[in-house]
Amino acid sequence: MATQISTGTSELRDITKMERIGAHSHIRGLGLDDRLEPRANSQGMVGQAKARKAAGMILKLVQEGRIAGRAMLFAGPPSTGKTAIALGMSQSLGPDVPFTMIAASEVFSLSMSKTEALTQAFRRSIGVRIKEETEIIEGEVVELQIDRSLTGATKTGKLTIKTTDMETIYDLGTKMIDALAKEKVTAGDVIAIDKTSGKVSKLGRSFARSRDYDAMGADTKFVQCPEGEIQKRREVVHTVSLHEIDVINSRTQGFLALFAGDTGEIKPELRNQINTKVAEWREEGKAEIVPGVLFIDEVHMLDIECFSYLNRALENELAPLVIMASNRGMARVRGTKIRSPHGLPVDLLDRVLIVSTKPYTETDIEEIIKIRCEEEDVKLTDSALQVLTTMAGQTTLRYALNLISTSQMLARKRKSDKVDVEDLRRSYTYFMDEKRSVEWIKMQEGSLIFEEISQAEAGRE
Ligand code: ATP
Repeated sequence: MATQISTGTSELRDITKMERIGAHSHIRGLGLDDRLEPRANSQGMVGQAKARKAAGMILKLVQEGRIAGRAMLFAGPPSTGKTAIALGMSQSLGPDVPFTMIAASEVFSLSMSKTEALTQAFRRSIGVRIKEETEIIEGEVVELQIDRSLTGATKTGKLTIKTTDMETIYDLGTKMIDALAKEKVTAGDVIAIDKTSGKVSKLGRSFARSRDYDAMGADTKFVQCPEGEIQKRREVVHTVSLHEIDVINSRTQGFLALFAGDTGEIKPELRNQINTKVAEWREEGKAEIVPGVLFIDEVHMLDIECFSYLNRALENELAPLVIMASNRGMARVRGTKIRSPHGLPVDLLDRVLIVSTKPYTETDIEEIIKIRCEEEDVKLTDSALQVLTTMAGQTTLRYALNLISTSQMLARKRKSDKVDVEDLRRSYTYFMDEKRSVEWIKMQEGSLIFEEISQAEAGRE
């Protein structure tokens, strides 16, 4: 079994990293300069300078491959950019570094156990960069190398043939060998081969850049000299996650299970086999491990079993960087009667780097609103911008950002291409923020159905 482990990489190359759109689509990075100093307004990021710098430092360690099995926690009030900064980090990682984002409550699923869900999230966040040999296919730009033993010791260099039809790379390779023998071409020379007659002529070294090249027509190929054996295969490098390798090898429908999201539980024996195989590939130089990032939002929603799992999983040699976020202060650790900062057990807290986020200043809020308006292609009048900024201060930033699109709808209805104060006011009456919702519930006393929670249940919660 282990010897037949497939990576299914050709199908997967495009889906190893999904981009989120929506509330954070304006975030394009952490907005730091080369010295990791936060720029005032860059890559969609504004304010929260300390937290961004801290995130940048951790990111650097990840990129240098010097950090694995470490965890950090963004702690701060709602709407202070914890998720935005984590996503900013993900944007700054290389394209083949896996970034997985889960909300802690997703772990409590009926289709699999909590620890299986966490294991899958961990393995999604560990990339395996694999070097694989593939057949040359028609239409590709390929590299051909001619064995020095065929051409004599003096013929060294690289040979590149560009061809859009297959007719045929090997044939050209053979002609190239003849040319090397007959024409005494040396490294860096450019030769032309007539495809029908096979006639070979030597051209000046600057020929490849000259206009004559275009004039030679479809029957002539030009090649640049020489070295190495003729390669019928070439090596490509791609990265897949350990989880993807698990899924492809655990189901008959293979990689399609990844699109359906219905991956089910994966047997530990299979994971062991895959780990062994990957370790073998590493030893043979065929693969490298790329530790990625696992982001767990609302981490206080995990329970004590999950926290023990995290503690253990972070010890593993193949652990990714785990970033957590919580907007709780002192909170009960779920599954226990213990209260602890951010709802995390102290032994886990002890190994975590904690980064705090703070409420935004009015100037920051105004800038964020402007960025969002640009992102959503919405124009605000100056007074509407002022009113929305004040609203964000009195409610939450997220609430104010949500009003942008609803107010635009109202502006359009009155045939205006700019959102004005009246559109915001009307939106404000249609949609309640959290504070008004609580007040409204109080006022509705008796007419709403209230869920009764017993003392015992409340204790368990
Ligand atoms: P919660 O605790 O409620 O999950 P949070 O701290 O994760 O909140 P976010 O969701 O990151 O807050 O922020 C709310 C909104 O404000 C998002 O649309 C986010 O992209 C935007 N935002 C937050 N901080 C910044 C920032 N520094 N620069 C630009 N946009 C930001």
